[in-house]
Amino acid sequence: MNYEPVIGLEVHAQLKTETKAFCSCPTRFGAQPNTQICPVCLGLPGTLPVLNRRMVEFAIRTALAFHGEISKDSVFARKNYFYPDLPKGYQISQYDRPLAVGGYLDIETKVPSPPRGEGQGEGATRRIRLVRIHMEEDAGKLIHEGIPGSEGSSFVDYNRAGVPLIEIVSEPDLRSPEEAGSYLRLLRSVVQYLDVCDGNMEEGSLRCDANVSVRPEGSEKYGTKVEVKNMNSFKSVEAAIQYEIDRQIQAIAAGERIVQETRLWDADPQKTFSMRSKEEAHDYRYFPEPDLIPVMVDAAWIEKVQGGLPELPDAKRRRFVEALELSHYDASVLVSSKSIADFFEKTIAIYNKPKMASNWILSELLRYLHEEGRGIEQSRVTPQLLAEMLRMIGDGALSGKMAKEIFKEVYQTGASAVSIVEKKGLKQVTDESAIAQVIDQVLAKHPDKVQDYKAGKEKLFGFFVGEVMKATRGQANPQKLNTLLKTKLSS
Ligand SMILES: [Zn+2]
Repeated sequence: MNYEPVIGLEVHAQLKTETKAFCSCPTRFGAQPNTQICPVCLGLPGTLPVLNRRMVEFAIRTALAFHGEISKDSVFARKNYFYPDLPKGYQISQYDRPLAVGGYLDIETKVPSPPRGEGQGEGATRRIRLVRIHMEEDAGKLIHEGIPGSEGSSFVDYNRAGVPLIEIVSEPDLRSPEEAGSYLRLLRSVVQYLDVCDGNMEEGSLRCDANVSVRPEGSEKYGTKVEVKNMNSFKSVEAAIQYEIDRQIQAIAAGERIVQETRLWDADPQKTFSMRSKEEAHDYRYFPEPDLIPVMVDAAWIEKVQGGLPELPDAKRRRFVEALELSHYDASVLVSSKSIADFFEKTIAIYNKPKMASNWILSELLRYLHEEGRGIEQSRVTPQLLAEMLRMIGDGALSGKMAKEIFKEVYQTGASAVSIVEKKGLKQVTDESAIAQVIDQVLAKHPDKVQDYKAGKEKLFGFFVGEVMKATRGQANPQKLNTLLKTKLSS
């Protein structure tokens, strides 16, 4: 029997606010443990939470970008559970009245296939619906390992306790690990465009839990779902989901029943392990947070946030294709990350040749960065440097072939193409009198071949071009050389 996977994702995104959700402690990542804490986020008796307005604004921003419906009066709730990383003994979250319901993301299911320049069909689009987006606070962090002399000890860092999060919950609309991967990539790129979350999965500012079940193909009924946690990269999300699908299909084939549980992904053996049987909502004894009033969001606020939304990846890609005449594939890669799109747009703001800029960024620059494992933010090549080199190519001062060599050096050193060309004496010769002079010398050296050419051996034209190029070390501008040589030979 063939089985169909059914996948839903719950994504936690840490909001880039300066301060925590309910107190004024800073949220800086990587600070010394327990240096960004206060009585409120430590849950000491007698303290009261004060809602961070910026957190609500960022959450509204995200919900609007995903076409969700904003609630005019959402409610914070206490989610009660006991765990050492949760000093209050409960997490302030939202339960039956979240900030936003509904919404969707349109993901591309088939990435149009490279090679670039041919067959760039649009990928098919699938709409993945959202259940809700709600606000909550993060818990602290437990450290069980890696501290010398601490065998058998655990440590807790409360710096993260109270950092604002949004949880974005999808419907179980995803049907493969690859779709889950595209959904997550698009989601990350949108929160980065919105500037509400840095999207760093390794540092945990974007975390993803997957609900995975399988059912016989064609069946309408959902199978028993298992929640998979602890994936900290796109790759591990896809691998964990694939592992879980295979595990469930094998278990069913062996006549076992799937139990509802939470499983942890372990990247080392590439397997999931049972952590605990899944809690039901009533295990958390949710009730409205008595220390906070409902979050009132009026139409004017929504309108203001809506008006401030930036151009999002979809719209940007459409504009790149329609107004700048880039291919669908190239535009998709450029907008896939906000920093690549920014780099591209800054480059063409200086030297407006979109196709050329896109080619150099996508082929040369990204290739070098990839080899080094760097992001474009850490590139020594700036938009300014790239634009300057493109201008030299456009002006005929640099041939495409020479440019590739020069670019390698710009990339490695961060020096300008102009200075490298000067240093190497590689400047293309465009001065007509200089080229004409070399042509005269070459023709004078080969009077017999000139005779033959004039008598009809036109193939010799290539020979003369070759000689001139040799004499100029390949630096003669080819167009100018051709025109001048033709004139001289026909005179
Ligand atoms: Zn605090």
